[in-house]
Amino acid sequence: MENNKLFNAGKGAVFTHSGRHEMDASLMDGSNLMAGAVAGVAAVKNPVLLARLIMEKTDHVFLSGAGAEELASKYSLPFESPDYFFDEFRHQQWLAAKDSGASFLDHTQDKKFGTVGAVALDQKGNIAAATSTGGMTNKMYNRIGDTPIIGAGTYASNATCGVSCTGHGEYFIRSVVAYDISCLMEYKGLSLKEACKVVVMEKLVKIGGEGGLIAVDSLGNLELAFNSEGMYRASVKSGEVPFIGIYK
Ligand code: ASP
Repeated sequence: MENNKLFNAGKGAVFTHSGRHEMDASLMDGSNLMAGAVAGVAAVKNPVLLARLIMEKTDHVFLSGAGAEELASKYSLPFESPDYFFDEFRHQQWLAAKDSGASFLDHTQDKKFGTVGAVALDQKGNIAAATSTGGMTNKMYNRIGDTPIIGAGTYASNATCGVSCTGHGEYFIRSVVAYDISCLMEYKGLSLKEACKVVVMEKLVKIGGEGGLIAVDSLGNLELAFNSEGMYRASVKSGEVPFIGIYK
């Protein structure tokens, strides 16, 4: 998905206020609670692969900017020039937003495009979650959203669930959304469905946080929950017909 300009991640990422691309990504392995995250990279072709590299090859969880790109080059991850990430539609969104002083949630501008995320449960019961984004159009230089913050935009634990979020990052950070879903299941015994309802439809709505998430629990239950008008989403289970959806 990072290689497809239809999505706001990797190629086709949105523009910052200064007209650059700054991408964030993270992933988490629910079998051992290992995680990797990267923020503010401008030239790494696949930020989610860099997040994985950080998880697998360093003692750290979260790297940003120049240090993260140095690691990517040490391990020969592909780099691209700004031309590769450029998309005319994104450029027009930025031109329209830049003098307004506001930063826009990508999906309020056009429901067809957005941050990408994936959650999965395998046959051994291992859960994983990953999220990648260009962030929000016209965001301030070096602004970091929820996507690379473990517990906010991404979380996975075999004991509970895997979660990947999309939406207005500042609200998702303050609500620690992904970990809150897991906590409601672990400490309160809620089902995944109940936990998603509480967090996405009640707690986030109460503070004005627009967006949604995809989640899977250890039994293979799936939730694709959102309080926005639409969220591009899809799911597949062994032996079942794949599901895709956009609006409610
Ligand atoms: N959550 C992302 C951010 O705030 C944006 C999005 O999901 O559309 O950076």
